[in-house]
Amino acid sequence: MRYVDIDELVMPSGWLSRAGAAALAVLAGDDPNNHSIVWRDLKDGLASLLGDKCWYCESWIDRSDNAVDHFRPKNSVSDAIAPHKGYRWLAFDHLNYRYSCTFCNSRRKGIDDATVGGKADRFPLLDEAKRLYAPGPLAQEQPTLLDPCELHDWELLGCQQENGQPCATSFDPIKRLRAETSIEIYHLHYEPTCKVRHRTAVQLISDIEEAKRLFIIAQTSPARERDFSNMARRIKRAIIPKAPFSGDMIFLLRGQRSAEHPWIQQLLES
Ligand SMILES: [Zn+2]
Repeated sequence: MRYVDIDELVMPSGWLSRAGAAALAVLAGDDPNNHSIVWRDLKDGLASLLGDKCWYCESWIDRSDNAVDHFRPKNSVSDAIAPHKGYRWLAFDHLNYRYSCTFCNSRRKGIDDATVGGKADRFPLLDEAKRLYAPGPLAQEQPTLLDPCELHDWELLGCQQENGQPCATSFDPIKRLRAETSIEIYHLHYEPTCKVRHRTAVQLISDIEEAKRLFIIAQTSPARERDFSNMARRIKRAIIPKAPFSGDMIFLLRGQRSAEHPWIQQLLES
């Protein structure tokens, strides 16, 4: 996961008034899904904010009709203790949209493994008593799910170098609970995704080993500095926001920091 600044979204002309009209129709009792064209119109704009990757798992998304997820579900909320008809009043609020692959946003069982996941109408809260059932201050709710549109949530997720399995990065019980719940609900542990994540991690670790070797050589042979900087640039390309699984790669790169290799910290900060 990476942070996405949704305020950078560029909308098509007239979108806000079309969204306003759809919101009024839903307020009068219409089904939000009858107006799905409204959020689909933002699909390309949302996709461009993170290099056409899913905001939850950072996989590249092929063409999908279903790629705009409502972070707060629009039709029902299965985690609510009382019957909840969904956050219908946010169905046409672009701040509630997250660009998502079908593995993260639709409930399914893995074909190749025993995992089950997919967000669908899940939206657990840390304190269920604070749940909104009608328009109100969203700040009152504390979502359990990690949100790519929150500045620091993405830092709570990482992956294991050995197998690409997602993991929590914090030992704080609440942060850990949020990460582990997100792994299950976003289906981040889906085996085929772990395999691709693992391949990406193997390449990164191999590049880091090579960069470390070249860095030591360049200390005494300035002529080799270029070789080192080429490898450092390659590592940088793996952690920029548009690179697949870049949040996980940042987590792995952080684990490689040492006093002997200050360039790693510099790469992370640059
Ligand atoms: Zn995804």
